[in-house]
Amino acid sequence: IPSFVEESTAETITAVRPLAAVTGAELQAPLIQGGHVRYANLDYGASAPALTVVSAYLNEVLPYYASVHRGAGYASQISTSVYENSRNIVRDFVGGRADDSVIFTRNTTDSLNLLAGCLPQVDGRFAGEVLYLDIEHHANLLPWQGVPHRSVVAAPTLAETVDKLEAELAQGGVSLLAVTGASNVTGEILPIARLASLAHEYGARIVVDAAQLAPHRRINITEADVDYIVFSGHKLYAPFGAGVVVGRPDWLDAGIPHLAGGGAVREARLDSVNWAAGPARHEGGSPNVLGAATLARATQVLAGLDQDAWHAHESAIRSYLVQGLEAIDGVTVHKIFADSLDTIGVVNFSVEGFDAGLVAAYLAAEHGVGLRDGRFCAHPLLKRLGLPSGSLRASFGVGSRLEDATRLLAGIEGLKRDGL
Ligand code: PLP
Repeated sequence: IPSFVEESTAETITAVRPLAAVTGAELQAPLIQGGHVRYANLDYGASAPALTVVSAYLNEVLPYYASVHRGAGYASQISTSVYENSRNIVRDFVGGRADDSVIFTRNTTDSLNLLAGCLPQVDGRFAGEVLYLDIEHHANLLPWQGVPHRSVVAAPTLAETVDKLEAELAQGGVSLLAVTGASNVTGEILPIARLASLAHEYGARIVVDAAQLAPHRRINITEADVDYIVFSGHKLYAPFGAGVVVGRPDWLDAGIPHLAGGGAVREARLDSVNWAAGPARHEGGSPNVLGAATLARATQVLAGLDQDAWHAHESAIRSYLVQGLEAIDGVTVHKIFADSLDTIGVVNFSVEGFDAGLVAAYLAAEHGVGLRDGRFCAHPLLKRLGLPSGSLRASFGVGSRLEDATRLLAGIEGLKRDGL
């Protein structure tokens, strides 16, 4: 057991109790070997540790794991029912409309690539452009580079950015506004309902990349009038390997089948095919039943959380961390918008004179703190923020504790005092 890692004690957790104590949303203990030493995981934004409820559910369904849709056998029937019911659970989680399609994919990246193949076409050409901001994660940037597109610089304020998007939309010709729900770099939240209303005013649709937002905030796509939402299970306290796209069925049912193969067809002939409609069109091959089931189970846990306790927990840790970092000489906390109001549990910062990658390695080795360094798959934004060689990102969620932030602050103080 590394000596730098102290055991958590009740006394160290005073200002903020782990949310598990408040809501019962227990995590699988993120522990280093030995079972009693807590590693400060500040990398929830990359992948959040699985909830215990989710891991128990995985063990519950694992024995019945069989190929869905095609088997008459008992296990296959159970698997099919678990899989299909997962769609309803996820639809409910995002407040979907009754006729919204729920398509399981590998992750958010896969979902956005799927949607890129479903943009409306006229005479075999895309009918309209995709509009996006320069702050997007590559998952919500690169799929659109293969279709007609335009982009807008998200600066200097959120209000001005919304105005700029409106001006672009007003020029006409935009079929889809693709926007993140919350920045994976800084955590700042975008005004989704307002953007949906603007997109619709000018005849476009909107897709929200909720990879970061969904693990932190409830979203109701019917109320917000959002056409498509996408997110990943592994950032939402479920295992890797499953993502989802939920949204209006017309484009999805007419789009290019995302994974051509068994199950995606009504009828296949040797040199032609009649594709299925509905989720089957895009889910060729044997699907990830356990991934879909655990993703759905995680959404049920999040839906059952006391929203106020959840947000108070994360924002208390965030404020404490931001204040602590800003009090250290040479540390800068980065933001995109001068006027942003709401932020998920993400803090992005740099330490003057120190390479971000070396700081991250030092924090891991000397202080048992895991965070992320680099350019966060958002190269255009990092370049524009003047951080071409990257920065540091601390991110947290329901299982985080104030002491995780304390450990990070102590690490940065140690770095400033002793150097690398
Ligand atoms: N969009 C955002 C905002 C993200 O933060 C991420 C992952 O970091 C993605 C998309 C891609 O998610 P995935 O790697 O699960 O496809």
